[in-house]
Amino acid sequence: MELLYRSTRSTQEAVTASKAILKGLSDDGGLFVPEKIPALGCSLKELADMSYQEAAYEVMKQYLTDFTEEELKDCIAKAYDEKFDTDVIAPMAEVERTYYLELFHGKTIAFKDMALSILPHLMITSAKKNHVEKEIVILTATSGDTGKAALAGFADVPGTRIIVFYPKNGVSPIQEKQMVTQKGDNTLVVGIHGNFDDAQTGVKKLFGDRELAERMAEKGFQFSSANSINIGRLVPQIVYYVYAYAKLLKEEQIAEGEKINVVVPTGNFGNILAAFYAKNMGLPIAKLICASNENKVLYDFFSTGCYDRNREFVLTTSPSMDILISSNLERLIYRLTGEDYAKNAELMRQLQENGVYHISEEMKKELEDFYGNFATEEESASQIKKIYEDTGYVMDTHTAVASAVYEKYKKDTGDMTKTVIASTASPFKFTRSVMCAIDSKYENMEDFKLVDELSRISNVPVPAAIEEIRTAPVRHQCQCGKEEMKKVVEDFLGL
Ligand SMILES: *Cc1c(COP(=O)(O)O)cnc(C)c1O
Repeated sequence: MELLYRSTRSTQEAVTASKAILKGLSDDGGLFVPEKIPALGCSLKELADMSYQEAAYEVMKQYLTDFTEEELKDCIAKAYDEKFDTDVIAPMAEVERTYYLELFHGKTIAFKDMALSILPHLMITSAKKNHVEKEIVILTATSGDTGKAALAGFADVPGTRIIVFYPKNGVSPIQEKQMVTQKGDNTLVVGIHGNFDDAQTGVKKLFGDRELAERMAEKGFQFSSANSINIGRLVPQIVYYVYAYAKLLKEEQIAEGEKINVVVPTGNFGNILAAFYAKNMGLPIAKLICASNENKVLYDFFSTGCYDRNREFVLTTSPSMDILISSNLERLIYRLTGEDYAKNAELMRQLQENGVYHISEEMKKELEDFYGNFATEEESASQIKKIYEDTGYVMDTHTAVASAVYEKYKKDTGDMTKTVIASTASPFKFTRSVMCAIDSKYENMEDFKLVDELSRISNVPVPAAIEEIRTAPVRHQCQCGKEEMKKVVEDFLGL
């Protein structure tokens, strides 16, 4: 049976999965949601014996119903291969009776790789299926992690080009080095003189530029988006929750049907939404624990039912969670309204115009699957130090937020249900913050010295992603003012 996708904001015609992947966002500004969340097609016992790739097929085929078996298996095989530094793709580390699901074994050592290594293949397959002959141009603004993961995913994928804009002085030195050393003739990386919001606004403008779109079409190009609201990113993220449960079952850590909790360090609400979808597919998950850093919009929302972005933006040591508008939350809100697109559209209008909305008491009741809390900078840092000193395990700053929030959850509720924490980045990606959390003596050590020191104290080899940039030549030196972004795109495409 074919599963179609609808917008969260109107009754526009439902589209196939491949069309939703190509479009990214619905024309009315809403997000695509499946008409119904499908059930798992096989038992957890059967899943327990599957490889990551096999489990990925079982989960994704329920959503991408207009892909043939061959097409989907081909996308999966191309994505989850030697690019990952372990055959199991998403291994789990047991630390103090809690399971850290490590989602950072891909090319750029952050969890964005889990979806961005398959998205390019889903996208070109979707283009073929819909007879799109044009070359697809991915346009992205990044505050660090997404840009590199998208570059790595799309580099040298035939039929695509990718342009990434980042704030020249707004990303970490390692993040910048990762991007400007990117290989691939179809890639372009540009530092803009402005902040992340300027980059984001500029990209949105380009997406909406009709005149540019027409000239691009004449030359055989069309824009597409690798943004985290694309269902081509959401669906692959459901896989690892199912896989993690199946592995716990296989290793007899849990009994069949036993419920587990899941803790997710959250920014745009994509990763935790995938866990919510997994639960609704029938995966035995009890609580979905949403962990925020000091940008605690979501914690406030879960406690009061009021979403309010009107507040100061805090720069933290977990920058990928420094977000005041969690775009993917709209999919949950839509569900809380009982899939009432008009109600949802009205709330999103209030968010757009006033930066705030309130949900009804009735909707609030539906939130009981979730628990929200936040961790301060000090709490996260001391969690890194404590876990390292007690166990030798070193986690990154984002995972530390989740781990610290989980401690609060246990204190609050006394709930000792077995728990999986989504570990979203390698500590090597945020070496300086991690090492300084462990000991202030590292404050004056040089970046790559710190990397070696981290490897020594954690007993983990330096990941290839970091070794590469030590010596890799800079390939991208393009910079521009925020008014010049269009010109840069035109030059790259030869318009
Ligand atoms: C993107 C990111 C997050 C937040 O994930 P969302 O899906 O946006 O909630 C957390 N940690 C890291 C390291 C990330 O890169």
